[in-house]
Amino acid sequence: MITRDPYEVLGLARDAGAEDVKRAYRQLAMRHHPDRNPVDADAEGRFKEAAEAYEILKDPDKRAAYDRYGHAGLRGGFGAEGYDITDALRAFMRDFGGFGGLEDLFGGGRSAAGPRRGSDVQVRVQVTLPEVASGVEKTLTLAILDPCEECGGTGSKTRQRAVCPECAGAGEVRQARRSIFGQFVNVVACPRCHGAGTLVEKPCLTCAGEGRRRKEKRVKVRIPPGVATGNYLTLREQGNAGTLGGGRGNVIVVIEALPHEEFRREGDDVLLEWPVSFSQAALGAEVTVPTLEGTADVTIPAGTQSGAVLTLRSRGIPRVSGRGRGDQHVRVRVWTPLRLSPEERRLLEELAAHENGLPPSGDRTGFWEKVKEVLGAS
Ligand SMILES: [Zn+2]
Ligand SMILES: [Zn+2]
Repeated sequence: MITRDPYEVLGLARDAGAEDVKRAYRQLAMRHHPDRNPVDADAEGRFKEAAEAYEILKDPDKRAAYDRYGHAGLRGGFGAEGYDITDALRAFMRDFGGFGGLEDLFGGGRSAAGPRRGSDVQVRVQVTLPEVASGVEKTLTLAILDPCEECGGTGSKTRQRAVCPECAGAGEVRQARRSIFGQFVNVVACPRCHGAGTLVEKPCLTCAGEGRRRKEKRVKVRIPPGVATGNYLTLREQGNAGTLGGGRGNVIVVIEALPHEEFRREGDDVLLEWPVSFSQAALGAEVTVPTLEGTADVTIPAGTQSGAVLTLRSRGIPRVSGRGRGDQHVRVRVWTPLRLSPEERRLLEELAAHENGLPPSGDRTGFWEKVKEVLGAS
């Protein structure tokens, strides 16, 4: 959760309007976007912080809550859980364009003629909890645009492209527009060559003049231990080929961590429900429970109540930072037998005879002492 004042983060006055908020955020986000700063870890932090500040100030309810109560006003509803870089990227894309539009925002050459970088390919990958614990390498099969081999990516049967007569190769044209305020001149992408500056006279039949073709590709991705749903990995320059020899976009692998039937995940910790018999809970026992990577012996202390939680240190999920791992919690559930053998029934009846009714509220230990006594005696 954001720790700084969101106004300070965005460099805004308290009375800044909605448009100011948006503008300030956009500027910061563009400057610190991870795609522009691939090696700068600080930039990622600043990008995330800007997005968090923006999420607060753009929402009138959250903003009002922050103005009145400060950070305390944001708890519960927002950001209490980790706001990660993916959330930040999502916020950015939601308001300023999707994956495909990112290059446009970052000056990928909207107006200049010539090659353009290819678009990013986003793919979801499901990982099981054991895979999250150990890390895993996956091979993905993706349909990715490749330069057409037939025409060498030119889109032309003759592999030649002619200069566009409409824009004379500039890729853009000026449009004069008259209005009651006078004449405006707009510079727009050339409608004839769509900004390429060149044209194909005889289109390549294989790619229909596009210069690219979709191909099935196998891409390997190494998923580190500790990932969670919404985390993503960027495989640089493995995405769609650009036009006219423009560079490739990225493949963005978004993680979906699947739930496990036995373990429940809570951050880097896992929780396991473990049934023990009444006598095990009363007398204490050594039990063997599953862990993410095998088994572990757990001591159930004598007099353990149903619902008690025992913790196995560092048996949880490795932290994605690579430092240490979470814990495994074992929640003991006292299991009541559905069917009794005659011998079990006899013993329980004997126990019941010694119980003197239900355990008094406020003095449960007395009850458990009795239970131990009786079972221990038999
Ligand atoms: Zn043109
Ligand atoms: Zn072709």
